[in-house]
Amino acid sequence: MSAERPKTGSFVLPGDWLGVIEEFSPNEGTYDEGGIIFASHAGIVLIDKVERRVKVIPFESHPFIKKGSLVLGMVVNTGKILSMVDIARIGGKTLSSPYSGVIHVSQISNQFIDKPSDAFKIGDIVKARIIEVRSELIQLSTIGKNLGVVLAFCSKCGSPLDPKSNGVLTCSTCGNKEKRKISIDYGKSKL
Ligand SMILES: [Zn+2]
Repeated sequence: MSAERPKTGSFVLPGDWLGVIEEFSPNEGTYDEGGIIFASHAGIVLIDKVERRVKVIPFESHPFIKKGSLVLGMVVNTGKILSMVDIARIGGKTLSSPYSGVIHVSQISNQFIDKPSDAFKIGDIVKARIIEVRSELIQLSTIGKNLGVVLAFCSKCGSPLDPKSNGVLTCSTCGNKEKRKISIDYGKSKL
């Protein structure tokens, strides 16, 4: 029971621990097993401290998380076909805790991208659009001139990179050149 308690607004997955029945009565989107309350589906936690109730709202019904919304987040992992993004802002609203989003390699650019790490690096700030909200994860796309990396840092020295032509970024500190799928708003997007 050392896991951190999810707060109101936290994103949880089925089976995530929410608390014990001595603290809260389980409500919609939760179940009780041996006095411990778990999430029965993916969604947003809502804790009513006055009524001492906990419930999980399916995140499809969360007003900002919908197809077409623009998001701003940080790339936290790049794999063989997927990039993971911690979404910090949705539809211009800052979230109290980040949601997880994924960008499939085919959804990075209109141009062929061999692997996610050719377009994104961990720590990049990306602007993306929600294209699907169905399973546990929010699916994102950066296809389009205005979408993609809006801020990136040199992988050698950590300085912010300056945009050059053709998606090439250069480091004014060490001269390192790196490639990304950048947005035309690179360096200008409001964070
Ligand atoms: Zn550098």
